[in-house]
Amino acid sequence: MGKVTGFLEHERLEEGYEPVELRLKNWGEFVIGLNQEQAKVQGARCMDCGTPFCNSGCPVNNIIPDFNDLVYRGDWRAALDTLHQTNNFPEFTGRVCPAPCEAACTLNVNDDPVGIKSIEHAIIDRGWAEGWVAPQPAAVQTGRKVAVVGSGPAGLAAAQQLARAGHAVTVFEKNSRIGGLLRYGIPDFKMEKSHIDRRIEQMQAEGVVFRTGVLVGALPAESKVTNDAKETISPEQLKAEFDAVLLTGGSETSRDLPVPGRELDGVHYAMEFLPQQNKVVAGDKVKGQIKATGKHVIVIGGGDTGSDCVGTSNRHGAASVTQFELMPRPPVEENRPMTWPYWPIKLRTSSSHDEGCGREFAISTKEIVGAKGRVTALKTVRVQWQDGKMVEVPGSEQEYKADLVLLAMGFVAPVATVLEAFGVARDARGNAKATTEAQGGYRSNVDKVFVAGDMRRGQSLVVWAIREGRQAARAVDEYLMGHSALPR
Ligand SMILES: Cc1cc2nc3c(=O)[nH]c(=O)nc-3n(C[C@H](O)[C@H](O)[C@H](O)COP(=O)(O)OP(=O)(O)OC[C@H]3O[C@@H](n4cnc5c(N)ncnc54)[C@H](O)[C@@H]3O)c2cc1C
Ligand code: SF4
Repeated sequence: MGKVTGFLEHERLEEGYEPVELRLKNWGEFVIGLNQEQAKVQGARCMDCGTPFCNSGCPVNNIIPDFNDLVYRGDWRAALDTLHQTNNFPEFTGRVCPAPCEAACTLNVNDDPVGIKSIEHAIIDRGWAEGWVAPQPAAVQTGRKVAVVGSGPAGLAAAQQLARAGHAVTVFEKNSRIGGLLRYGIPDFKMEKSHIDRRIEQMQAEGVVFRTGVLVGALPAESKVTNDAKETISPEQLKAEFDAVLLTGGSETSRDLPVPGRELDGVHYAMEFLPQQNKVVAGDKVKGQIKATGKHVIVIGGGDTGSDCVGTSNRHGAASVTQFELMPRPPVEENRPMTWPYWPIKLRTSSSHDEGCGREFAISTKEIVGAKGRVTALKTVRVQWQDGKMVEVPGSEQEYKADLVLLAMGFVAPVATVLEAFGVARDARGNAKATTEAQGGYRSNVDKVFVAGDMRRGQSLVVWAIREGRQAARAVDEYLMGHSALPR
């Protein structure tokens, strides 16, 4: 339980950041994790509250009080084993998870929560450094073959679980590198890609086969999603060759901004802009890269993706970066007795915002203005909400100079043609339709085809994708074997 009086004695410790002027000069990670002594002090703050809300606040149900206690006692090896029981890739979540567990921490009712994410980060980094993270190949092979389509966190978690259950797993990925949005969405400064490469090596040693540059099904001709495929495989081929197919293709259709001027040069989806930079960092040649250098950049959309566009634009050397958000500015502090243990709506300032960014709230873009075919400005209006409806504020029209406009307003659904090719039914939002119930969970309407991750639940988080991948793996294992020893 950590130290009995630890929460009274010790303050929450935040991880450090390299100074802005230094980190803007490169694409590397800049978070300075807690050292072992600091992590121990953080672990000491866990107060054995009896009902660990953090454990259910965490989508993979990490056994947080136990690893806090183990770190406090200096048993790092056992802490790592505890962490791996519920999370295949704590180095991903320890870096990019927004930590809903901390919002749910009982200390957060009237104090600062335990720095759970920073402890997770410290445990897994030490695990890798000590050489404790090793392949765990299955003792017995089942002779069953499973195809996983898509190599994001959902596909990777599922593939690892299925391989450890003894199945022969092949992961198909249309892009040239494995990782999904971990690889091509999340910038290197938030998570360096060597973390994915290390896991791929581990999974290969566990028997997983990775096939990159292979599109399963079809994309619409005009599609702007990242696609490096040199080969196509039909759903029929896949179903004939494999005993089960798990679709984890993500939710790749970006929300558009249907206003006059949308067709102008210099207006791009975030997911046209961000993958190019990640490819350049990886050493790939990108023809005609979209660069923010010397430009006035406006990012439309106030979420994580928008924030990543801000950080990337500043590293390109943008003249200015401004981020628009349709919703009003939320309060800086939540009303904790009202919101705990749930995820509160409050002003979130990311490390990218700290690097330089104007933030405009309650603003809507009416028109994109251009000259000679290129964007030059945005015409906007302020908005407010009345009876749940958005209304424009009369006389609040304004023009913002813009040379580059990045659309980061979220993702509406998976690419429909991929699901159509399989004949997989979709729900009202266009996501692949399947429940998460224990019996029949993650199963689509098509025989032997399962679905998980953003493709099933819609745009979400890495930690939710890992949860869905793990649970879908159990469902596939049960389907193939009639029972499963994989965790629920
Ligand atoms: C810019 C950005 C930043 C983000 N930042 C964070 C963050 O900081 N923290 C966080 O928790 N979450 C973040 N997210 C969300 C998170 O990345 C996703 O929720 C998560 O990656 C979803 O995982 P997934 O495995 O379901 O799908 P994805 O990661 O989208 O992977 C799907 C994969 O399937 C492949 N694929 C699709 N169709 C086919 C096909 N037909 N054939 C072959 N391959 C196919 C795709 O190429 C892709 O590689 C961010 C998202 C974006 C876009
Ligand atoms: S995965 Fe996310 S929610 Fe779960 S313990 Fe780690 S930081 Fe918290």
